[in-house]
Amino acid sequence: MANTVVLVTGGSRGIGAAVSRKVAALGHTVIVNYAQNGTAADALVAEIKAAGGTAVAVQGDVQNEADVLHLFAEADRLGTLVGLVNNAGVVDLSQRVDEMTLARLTRMFSINVIGAFLCAREAVKRMSTKHGGAGGAIVNLGSAGSKLGSPNQYVDYAASKGAIDTMTVGLALEVADEGIRVNGVRPGIIDTDIHASGGAPDRVAQLKSRLPMKRAGTADEVADAILWLLSDQSSYTTGTMLDVSGGRAVLP
Ligand code: NAP
Repeated sequence: MANTVVLVTGGSRGIGAAVSRKVAALGHTVIVNYAQNGTAADALVAEIKAAGGTAVAVQGDVQNEADVLHLFAEADRLGTLVGLVNNAGVVDLSQRVDEMTLARLTRMFSINVIGAFLCAREAVKRMSTKHGGAGGAIVNLGSAGSKLGSPNQYVDYAASKGAIDTMTVGLALEVADEGIRVNGVRPGIIDTDIHASGGAPDRVAQLKSRLPMKRAGTADEVADAILWLLSDQSSYTTGTMLDVSGGRAVLP
């Protein structure tokens, strides 16, 4: 049987890196996609290989269609695609909507929404029984922000994750009888570098006393939920967004 391949977009750091480690530990070949930080991706691949796993780092910006096609061509070269984790995502500096430029909005929606759609499209072409595939699972990274709206911080980011909630439901129903399950997770405040990239490196420390569990989540805790949604243990679960937020924003 051919190698089973799982593609993790933005797999080099944070939640994606935790997912990549766990996917490789299960024996899948993992494609560790990254945008810019090749050093982090190479270090993770070396770590996975040292632990006996198989991983390949592939540079590619998910908002760029040619890059996405290249990513999936690599998956084809390595084996049979059985899973996609649509994890690549960005935030931006805190701003009100009345301050946001077209360039900011375009970047936010291109990476967080169009990138996820392009990757989902390519995954469905390979995994759907309608296209001769053998099925598989897609897990999308949403955010608690889609329910909170993130006012005075990044309403654009929250709205981009709202699009992910909706895409998860719609795509799940499109491919439900084609062997593909499509689900998502909505993390709350998770301790990764993403907060620094949004200009708030101390966000976790500042917010934790206001979180229900009085602590942020870890990348591993989110990855465990993603691994369940990728696995056959969730074989009758599709179209679902799982809140992995320590109780933050669990109500609609
Ligand atoms: P992170 O630590 O900032 O890591 C982001 C990863 O995405 C990196 O591997 C980065 O690659 C990659 N990436 C960024 N832009 C990309 C692009 N255009 N194309 C391909 N890869 C790209 O982020 P994280 O905190 O792990 O977040 C992962 C996902 O969870 C995101 O979708 C985020 O919105 C969501 N989420 C996170 C939190 C949280 O509190 N951390 C909460 C809710 C939702 P480089 O290393 O090359 O930059």
